[in-house]
Amino acid sequence: MRQGLTYDDVLLEPQYSDIQSRKEVSLETDLGKGVRLRIPIIASPMDTVSEGNMAWGMGMAGGTAIIHRYNSIIEQASMFDSIPCDLIAGGAVGVGDDMLNRAAALIMRGAKIICIDVAHGHHVLVKNALVELRKRFGEDIHIMAGNVATLEGFNDLADWGADSIRCNIGGGSICTTRVQTGHGVPGLETIFQCAKSDRDAKIIADGGIKTSGDIVKALAAGADAVMLGSLLAGTDLAPGECFKDTNGEHRKVYRGMASAEAQKDWRGRVSSLEGISSSIPYRGALPDVLADLERGVRSGLSYSGARSIKELQVKAKWNRQTHASIVESSAHITRRK
Ligand code: IMP
Repeated sequence: MRQGLTYDDVLLEPQYSDIQSRKEVSLETDLGKGVRLRIPIIASPMDTVSEGNMAWGMGMAGGTAIIHRYNSIIEQASMFDSIPCDLIAGGAVGVGDDMLNRAAALIMRGAKIICIDVAHGHHVLVKNALVELRKRFGEDIHIMAGNVATLEGFNDLADWGADSIRCNIGGGSICTTRVQTGHGVPGLETIFQCAKSDRDAKIIADGGIKTSGDIVKALAAGADAVMLGSLLAGTDLAPGECFKDTNGEHRKVYRGMASAEAQKDWRGRVSSLEGISSSIPYRGALPDVLADLERGVRSGLSYSGARSIKELQVKAKWNRQTHASIVESSAHITRRK
């Protein structure tokens, strides 16, 4: 039986470094077909994360966002109106009847990435969707697809025409897929496996990323970029109003797209339940949150003596954590009696 590791199971070993300033570190990543990002961060296509404002803010910061598809084609396409066409933004499509029309509307409004957004991406419907999208829009448009949990899934999606692939099934902070279905692979293990691929498709580590340290681990394991939900949903540019809870804390709603609440809103009924709706503390302005993450990631690369993501991937040395080291790895004074 295979055994998989995830983010909290491992640490990167600090190595000799001659990097004197975090400014010497480049976080640039090239996902292909003109999708070149200054920071390797993509906001997730969820209705509490990515609409027009988030896409604008992510683009301004040097990352990107995939605008969610839980709306009409007109609503989704109009979210591109406020995004200047020197910025990179993407739009999600499903595999249903409106896929081609939706993709056409998004591309017409300036989408640089079309993301086939399906929970189980290693599926014949995703294969058909990739073939149809390529036939209609040609080779120049960047197509992201997913999600997959295995190297076999990654290779198949790459062979079917995906330029980048969302990797990880069941690891999201609002996800109950593994509980409901018994299926999934630990998130970081999926990245380690997909990094063995000899295909050109890029790896997007999606779901379960809680800290800048987790971003560094995902990149070191082989990811070209990370996709974030919970780390961005509490910011000012995520959709939804901030509210005060009974303790007076400011919070925002963050929900899985397969939660009962989200499904009722977008399709009027609940089918397979694989997510929950929750709320998270309000984090303030998106640029501040991203700047914090960026500082942590730059620092992370310098601890491995790496000036780029590629160099990090070559140099990374991994250390398995025990339960005691996991405790030691967080601020643990509060645990003392
Ligand atoms: P987070 O960054 O850990 O909060 O995870 C975000 C990721 O969870 C998204 O990018 C999706 O891949 C995944 N996701 C979103 N909604 C659901 C859901 O309802 N069930 C399972 N996974 C979900």
